[in-house]
Amino acid sequence: MEWQESTCYLNGEWIPLADARIPVLDRGFIFGDGVYEVVPVDTIDGSRAPFHARQHYQRLQRSLDGVRIENPFSIDTWLDMTARMIDMHPWPRQLVYVQVTRGVAKRDHPFPAGVKPTVFMNTAPWPEIPAEQIENGVPVVTHADERWLHCDIKSTSLLGNVLMKQYAIDHGASETVMLRDGFLTEGSSTNTMIVAGGNLIAPRKSVQILPGITYDAAIDIARSHGVAVELRPVPEAELRAADEVWLSSSGREVIAITSIDGRPVGPGRPGPLYRQMIEWFRQAKRADAAHWQAERRARKLAA
Ligand code: PLP
Repeated sequence: MEWQESTCYLNGEWIPLADARIPVLDRGFIFGDGVYEVVPVDTIDGSRAPFHARQHYQRLQRSLDGVRIENPFSIDTWLDMTARMIDMHPWPRQLVYVQVTRGVAKRDHPFPAGVKPTVFMNTAPWPEIPAEQIENGVPVVTHADERWLHCDIKSTSLLGNVLMKQYAIDHGASETVMLRDGFLTEGSSTNTMIVAGGNLIAPRKSVQILPGITYDAAIDIARSHGVAVELRPVPEAELRAADEVWLSSSGREVIAITSIDGRPVGPGRPGPLYRQMIEWFRQAKRADAAHWQAERRARKLAA
């Protein structure tokens, strides 16, 4: 199946993606007035499972609260819809996308009264993470973080991030890592963390960064294996002098950054803690998938 032939969910209906239509006055289109999630799905031990699905829908709730849109569904309903979406498509690896906008109304800035949110979900194949990137890491460039101060809300208003991703591409890099007032924030679509003296160091959660599900996972995994984790501001000089630098996201998992603005990070190769982390991350995915399958079985039995 090609992604163009997939089925999507739109406002209560499961319909061909090709047939899905929304009115042009949807506030998502007009204002970027909406929030979203991306949930990665992988095949583990022969079964497909989303990674940390519940955490994604908890974050969706947080984003909706942040922009005062009512959540149309409970987390369990979102999880059921995700399971159905996965089942409807043959791909072993998928990225399930969910978007909720404030709805359709005459164009005017104030929240419209009595409008129902527009709810959209679809899925698409998720290509393998290139082995070359896992083996050799990726180059990044840096740029001033010029985004708004609600980067903790996963808003569909992504123009700042889009411009930063294009900046990376225009400079032959894989990602743009942003700095605000001399401190590391995050990448255009990834979190950033460093390793120094054997410790994993990451900017703590604030309005300046997205509270990444993969960031949380990497930090939890590191801690559970006895790695000391420091959550604190990371000055630019420390970023540039780090032994290792990583990016993380649902779509890229954890990737080593091996050069910043053309200068190598450490020896310019993924470091020893990174190599550990990808192994630990695989184990965490396996455990999470088993948990998902058990939860699904329990839910089916209860139904
Ligand atoms: N930061 C930004 C700006 C992002 O867009 C993303 C993901 O898309 C992330 C961080 C990583 O978040 P997650 O690990 O939840 O995918």
